Amino acid sequence: MPLRHSPPYQSRPSLIDRELSGLVADAPQIEKLAVPAAFHISAALEGPKVVIFGSIHGDEPAGSLAVKELLTQFADCTLKLLRGSVILAVGNELALEQRVRKVERDLNRLFEFESIIEPSGYEERRAEELRDLLAGADYMMDLHATSKSSSPFLMCESHLLAEAQAMGFARIVTGWGELGEASLGGDTESYINQMGGKGFTVETGQRDDAEGCANALDAARRLLRHVSLLPYEAADVTAPAIYKLFASIKVEEATFKYRQPFGSFNPLVEGELIGCDANKEYRAPCDCVLVMPSNDEFMLARRRSN
Ligand SMILES: [Zn+2]
Repeated sequence: MPLRHSPPYQSRPSLIDRELSGLVADAPQIEKLAVPAAFHISAALEGPKVVIFGSIHGDEPAGSLAVKELLTQFADCTLKLLRGSVILAVGNELALEQRVRKVERDLNRLFEFESIIEPSGYEERRAEELRDLLAGADYMMDLHATSKSSSPFLMCESHLLAEAQAMGFARIVTGWGELGEASLGGDTESYINQMGGKGFTVETGQRDDAEGCANALDAARRLLRHVSLLPYEAADVTAPAIYKLFASIKVEEATFKYRQPFGSFNPLVEGELIGCDANKEYRAPCDCVLVMPSNDEFMLARRRSN
């Protein structure tokens, strides 16, 4: 009887797993987990459990570079946890290796409450592995990057806004989970929130931005400082720009064209043409800003007073 099909990715560790494992091989304070490209660091003193993911999308390298930098600094004892524990993991290691967004499926749509009973394909298996890392986590930060130009920003649900502000980010976007039908499910942030943890997604800038790794590292350090796991000296913004999403609009990717090269936080006035596809024109329904315009969708948000 033939064996069940085993894709080649099961037969060898990824390049990123080998690279990171080599990096921490002589660092007894860093535990290499059974899950590929995932590492655990803990302090003697009890404290919150934090999970940081980088590069859940393989075409967004900043997060994995930040994970690598953090591991380097923990390995050479530049960083030493004051309390609690942190898991650092690269998300979609195979897509990252291939410099593509996904191998088969968008990994950030596969974090469902119910286990995937029979995962088939790389991302379904990977989602199951990464979900296990989130068990019992108090905080999760997922480091992403945008396709179009964008200043770095933090996303979280409204009930976590006070904590987001305490971290000192310059831009905060809330309301993704309140978009109803248009809201995306199966993402890491929704998942950890459902599990009783606190989820934050960071967009570290445009995905080819040279500052991406530094921005991702800054975001991770802000979270670790917020929960008193690590000290960090950084300029804090005491009055951040806070935006609330109110629409997520899908467009016909094959024919859609933006009127001009828009990026995140591009201001729009009521009635302004955003772009058009074969079916219709898309105009701003009110004075608002664009958030994460991409080739197949864009979101709209209003700035709120602090
Ligand atoms: Zn992403």
